[in-house]
Amino acid sequence: MLLNQENEYLFQGKRKRLVEQLKEKGISSIEVLNAMLKIPRHKFFDNTTDRPALLDHAYSDKALKIGAGQTISHPFTVAFQTEKLNLVKGDKVLEIGTGCGYQTAVLIEMGAKVFSIERQKELFDKTKVFLPGIGYRGAKLFYGDGYKGLPQHAPFNKIIVTAAAPYIPDDLLSQLAIGGSLIIPLGEGEEQIMNLIVKKSGTEFEKHTFGKFKFVPMLQNKSGK
Ligand code: SAH
Repeated sequence: MLLNQENEYLFQGKRKRLVEQLKEKGISSIEVLNAMLKIPRHKFFDNTTDRPALLDHAYSDKALKIGAGQTISHPFTVAFQTEKLNLVKGDKVLEIGTGCGYQTAVLIEMGAKVFSIERQKELFDKTKVFLPGIGYRGAKLFYGDGYKGLPQHAPFNKIIVTAAAPYIPDDLLSQLAIGGSLIIPLGEGEEQIMNLIVKKSGTEFEKHTFGKFKFVPMLQNKSGK
């Protein structure tokens, strides 16, 4: 077993390589890359299963299990969605699908005021304790249904949906500030198309579409456990 400090150097090296790979794949935002260089991704997994293998894969560009049948998104997907949001420090950001909180940590690192919703009670409970435990405080985490958003905290400058949605929920469009953007993977099949919606006025939206991605489905209502 390596000493903790040696482990840290090892993981730092792995993160550097991951960030190099993200650059090669087209991620260019320095803020996104710096955030991902800092965050200890190896701490975010479901440590109860096959721990050595997970630690080994923590910095490969893969989606991995986080418990409750859910996955942490590929690093490239996290970087891509975050880059497309064009975050400005102080932006109020709504995240749908907190999961293990990795994407939440990226948003916090970038200076956003984060509000994040998770429908799985088990994941919500775990991440609520875990994130502050590794130093990521300040995000407001909610157990609820992301389709409804958080009307009491709207408007949001940016909204990021990290599960595959069958359609764009109206509630999310109405909770977006004018000039704000929503990044959302759309589709009900194996793969989804990434969409960026920019709110031009109360009634006008501009839509941009990007490549194919794979997400777990965005489900209706809270899980109940
Ligand atoms: N951002 C996460 C990605 C987790 S996968 C991370 O970095 O780990 C997507 C998550 O969305 C899952 O945890 C799933 O339970 C959650 N989810 C699915 N439908 C939802 C909904 N309607 N509201 C809130 N969360 C939802």
